[in-house]
Amino acid sequence: MATRAKPKDDRYRLPAAAERRSRKLAEERFGRYLSEHDLKLTPERREILQEFYRIHEHIEADELMFHLRRAGVRVSRATIYRTLDLLVQAGLARRISLGKDHSYYEHILGREAHEHMVCLGCDRIIEWLDAELTRLVFRNCAEQSFSPARHSLQVFGYCQDCSKTSEAHKALELGEDANLSSGD
Ligand SMILES: [Zn+2]
Ligand SMILES: [Zn+2]
Repeated sequence: MATRAKPKDDRYRLPAAAERRSRKLAEERFGRYLSEHDLKLTPERREILQEFYRIHEHIEADELMFHLRRAGVRVSRATIYRTLDLLVQAGLARRISLGKDHSYYEHILGREAHEHMVCLGCDRIIEWLDAELTRLVFRNCAEQSFSPARHSLQVFGYCQDCSKTSEAHKALELGEDANLSSGD
């Protein structure tokens, strides 16, 4: 997958002090999660978590590796993937699946919960939030006596720029434009 420049979307960021607190809190929570699962918060895992929590965009594992290398931290790709998986399981990160072997990750502490629109043309991810949708999710869960821990909604399609390209038009004609999927 070629790396393309992704436009940043910082609408749901919190102030710097709150972010520092959230990094500290994330490390405490991660440490707790790991010890509950007989795992250790190794220096490598700590470095990965700290760097990950400094990046405020949707990032691929390889991009995170690049950031870590630039910061002088050398960890294997396998360790990064494994640690990101553990962060997802610990409820500290979200995975946005874009298909087989292609995922973005984002941390969640210190950020408001939000949904994603994913452009199939340029991989752009647009964040959005709608209180009405959140209410709908909670109402439906309540009706099923279901206690929601987290949710995510991904809408796949084409952004404004890509909608203009012929590729998008072809896909729209084939009816592939409105894939809705719920990730984890
Ligand atoms: Zn696009
Ligand atoms: Zn997001």
